[in-house]
Amino acid sequence: MRPSLLDPLFAPLTSLPGVGPKLEKLYRHLLGRDEGPARVADLLLHLPAGTIDRRARPKLRDVVPGTVATVLVTVDRHRPAPPNRPRAPYQVYASDETGDLTLTFFHAKRDYLEKLLPVGERRIVSGTAEFYDGTLQMVHPDRVVSEADLDKLPLVEPVYPLTEGLSLNQVRRAMDGALAKLPMLPEWQDEAWLRRSDSPSFAEALHALHRPETPADVTPENAAWSRLAYDELLAGQLALALVREHQRRQPGRGSSGEGALREKVVAALPYSLTPSQERAVFDIVVDLARPERMVRLLQGDVGSGKTVVALLAAATVIEAGRQTALMAPTEILARQHLKTILPLAEKAGIRVAVLTGRERGKERSETLERLGRGDIDLIVGTHALFQDDVEFRDLALAVVDEQHRFGVHQRLALARKGQAVDMLVLTATPIPRTLALTFFGDMEISELREKPAGRQPIDTRAIPLSRLDEVVAAVGRAIAEDHRVYWVCPLVEESEKTDLAAAEQRFEELKQHFGERADLVHGKMKGPDKDRAMARFAAGETRLLVATTVIEVGVDVPEATVMVIEHAERFGLAQLHQLRGRVGRGSGRSTCLLLYRAPLGETAAARLKILRETEDGFRIAEEDLRLRGEGDVLGTRQSGVPGFRVARLDVHAGLVAPARDDAKLILSRDPDLAAPRGQALRHLLYLFERDEAIRLLRAG
Ligand code: ADP
Ligand code: MG
Repeated sequence: MRPSLLDPLFAPLTSLPGVGPKLEKLYRHLLGRDEGPARVADLLLHLPAGTIDRRARPKLRDVVPGTVATVLVTVDRHRPAPPNRPRAPYQVYASDETGDLTLTFFHAKRDYLEKLLPVGERRIVSGTAEFYDGTLQMVHPDRVVSEADLDKLPLVEPVYPLTEGLSLNQVRRAMDGALAKLPMLPEWQDEAWLRRSDSPSFAEALHALHRPETPADVTPENAAWSRLAYDELLAGQLALALVREHQRRQPGRGSSGEGALREKVVAALPYSLTPSQERAVFDIVVDLARPERMVRLLQGDVGSGKTVVALLAAATVIEAGRQTALMAPTEILARQHLKTILPLAEKAGIRVAVLTGRERGKERSETLERLGRGDIDLIVGTHALFQDDVEFRDLALAVVDEQHRFGVHQRLALARKGQAVDMLVLTATPIPRTLALTFFGDMEISELREKPAGRQPIDTRAIPLSRLDEVVAAVGRAIAEDHRVYWVCPLVEESEKTDLAAAEQRFEELKQHFGERADLVHGKMKGPDKDRAMARFAAGETRLLVATTVIEVGVDVPEATVMVIEHAERFGLAQLHQLRGRVGRGSGRSTCLLLYRAPLGETAAARLKILRETEDGFRIAEEDLRLRGEGDVLGTRQSGVPGFRVARLDVHAGLVAPARDDAKLILSRDPDLAAPRGQALRHLLYLFERDEAIRLLRAG
């Protein structure tokens, strides 16, 4: 049950002064609550975007046009709109000893203005001053007060993000009402930490941010904002830790052996593992041996060698007499894994089979039968793996590639095909550490940070489209020297049709130069046709592959050494990095040409610069985060992972790891959040809507 202390904060916004049902709708939109009623707490967590600073008191001569100025002036004369032009503005002329100021009002009421600005008296007027027709003007000053009322003039006013139909003054007024309802809440943060970091309480922080005394009071870096950000991050980490604990409490089964089968696989490798591959395998083996369930994320750039790590994990459970399923999001990727795995598995004596949408009839039913009997150790496939009639004799490990394309429920569906199935998730989209902790905090994380030995750096260049001829000539030379070239066509619009048209047109043009050696793949092609085109390219029958962005993540053609990306300025950083990762997979020297249409915007220029500077997917992911904000990096805006209200990962990233440690520590001492601090933390979980975690607590 929600603590009753929180009731005023969970009251609907209509309980605030000036908020009726009509405005409430606008607030819902403003606060991202389109589906449900907005609560007082939602408004309180709507922090100012900045301030209006009225502290400057220049003489009129010194007013800087375009800025907010607060001036003391004498009212000289009123000039109402002339009777023949009733729509002309009402003007009030004022001055100080250094100059003149015209106050301009549209649709003004004469009585009102005569009271507000009596001729001959002095008034303090605050607003944005502009030069217009050679005179200093202020159109609709924000504030007008007499000298006696000076203390009523807020010197620093918060400015809030707004939505159409809601005015700043309305939001400020509602906010005042919300602050008045804010109860004294028990402190949920560690008192010693608060003292050390000089942090205000939750309520003090909200007051400081909504009633700033200086503009610096509303910067995300300051103590008040950071306190709230830490609250939010801690709530998230606590919720994840509770979920993780819940998962762990489901009994697992230890799978371990001598490691003999693993050694056979390693012996079959034509190369040695990179240190981070070794480390990842070690972590996985330790996890697998434990009686709890493993939920681990293996992150590594394209080509960093995740498949081999997955195979070694599989070998561990297979040696214990159990089975592994490796699921990829597409047919091509499943076959790619198979290609890497088969020769190694053969040498090690691991029995492998494949199951995708393409296996049908007798072939499929035989595979299913062998799988059920336990005559298959490792099955590689696609979604086809979680059809109902797929039964394992004893599934121990599920490896899921490319996490983002599978939902959590699909992951769980696969896990249900066995008892206490351990889970290894592979992702080629490096996620900044902070984000990984934030969104995948329920998983342990392994990273493959270095590229396998022998890879050469990719020579990356940005070239304006106006030099297309040179690029075509360079591609011609590369093909003549027996290289293979990808040519990725622009993402013109959201519509696949127009993308396709652009790709087809470019293909026709390039065919003029390269004839039969050029080929085209795109998303509208049927699976087998696509595979055939890829296979011809992989085999060297074609040399230039024009593609829309469908070139599959993970497709491995080591002989491909040139990547041309047309209209690179339209792609996101992560996507460009992924595309570039198609080349540089063999030992040959590779080139990536980023064709752009000039002039480049600032962000696009920054993206291309980063790509030229580095191939480190983790660094690129961090930069991407900086350039775009956290939601887009994961595409989470669409997939509904809740974003943050208060925390800004570009500013507060450093707080994520401490919040995670804190959450672990809290739960290790007080797993049911029953102690006084635990009780206080329950308030926090409710405030940031992590009540699903509280339900887990009770479910036990
Ligand atoms: P990922 O799935 O991470 O994109 P893969 O597992 O497909 O990468 O590996 C890419 C290529 O690198 C494969 O051909 C694989 O055999 C090879 N590879 C993997 N690990 C190493 C290593 N340690 N040294 C050399 N080559 C490796
Ligand atoms: Mg792969």
